[in-house]
Amino acid sequence: MACKFISNEDITLWLEALAKDHVVFVPVDDCGSVTFRPLAEGRKPVLDRVPVRSPKEAVFPQNETLLLYKYEKDLEDPEHSTVRIKETLPKERAVVFGTRPCGARGMTVFDRVFDNERIRDPYYATRRENTLFITLACNKVESTCFCHEVGSGPADTAGSDVLLTPVQGGYTAEAVTERGGQMLEASVFADGGNKCAEAEEVKKATREMLGEAHDYSDAPEKLLAVFDDDEFWEEQAAGCISCGACTYLCPTCYCFNITDEATGTTGKRLRTWDTCMSFQYTLEGSGHNPRSTKAKRLKNRVNHKFSYYPDTYEKNIACCGCGRCIKSCPASVDIRAIVKAAQARGAKKESK
Ligand code: SF4
Ligand code: SF4
Repeated sequence: MACKFISNEDITLWLEALAKDHVVFVPVDDCGSVTFRPLAEGRKPVLDRVPVRSPKEAVFPQNETLLLYKYEKDLEDPEHSTVRIKETLPKERAVVFGTRPCGARGMTVFDRVFDNERIRDPYYATRRENTLFITLACNKVESTCFCHEVGSGPADTAGSDVLLTPVQGGYTAEAVTERGGQMLEASVFADGGNKCAEAEEVKKATREMLGEAHDYSDAPEKLLAVFDDDEFWEEQAAGCISCGACTYLCPTCYCFNITDEATGTTGKRLRTWDTCMSFQYTLEGSGHNPRSTKAKRLKNRVNHKFSYYPDTYEKNIACCGCGRCIKSCPASVDIRAIVKAAQARGAKKESK
């Protein structure tokens, strides 16, 4: 990857130039927590704190209109009616600036589900195609970070178009994709020179801060071994209050609900984020609920990330190790600890 350099001052110029023909999402302080918002006057990007919210909403909005419809009845021929449908595919081009590698990697978990050989979700695929990710490598770590344990790392490029690394006076910039390379042709970039070696040192030092990586490779089989161990799952879920924060903040959670909103003979179809941690998520029309307890719901969430998804998608874990769910959970439910406990308990069961 060719390495270039951009100064702290020129970052602002670059963002302003990008904002001429893109919606540029930047991390900003919103009531004390860092979240992505479109660049606007007076909104200063916060680059020294990890965003609490993930960047997924730039590509997979919390609420989106999928289509508009109008029902028409022919009064001359009352048995004849028509429903006109207008698809509302997103058109705008966007840039997500300053996401961390874990957030960008989360998009690769979405890609396998929403845009594959069998299924192409046109809303997701169009936004993904029209959105560029400029990612900021980490130069410090938090106690909840475990990206290095799930196949990622503090300078991971998966899901990104450009990787920036903080160095003295600015950032080095490396193109990850062809589109990223085109972005780095802007005049604000200089040759990286000796800044590139400094960036490599930053990456190495940050990786070392994370220490040794726990091995989750046998998690799918061990989770299967404790699948029917109700006592284990009840213990793990004891503190959970089913608030759903873990799923809404997670860069890899992609569950959604579809609802229609009608006003007279017109209406719209909406897609809205959903959470598998909610009682209503699997509540059937009959009143039966296959995941009636929070223990069953937590079991599903953990298994989905560390067992079902890897089984379906070539051993890729559907967790990027960002730690958002751990930090934001009011009960401090720790997904790492649950999988490790399942690995230990599963191994014990297998040895009996
Ligand atoms: S954030 Fe914590 S308390 Fe809320 S649903 Fe998730 S695990 Fe349960
Ligand atoms: S499960 Fe938790 S640690 Fe893993 S990607 Fe989601 S929020 Fe991050």
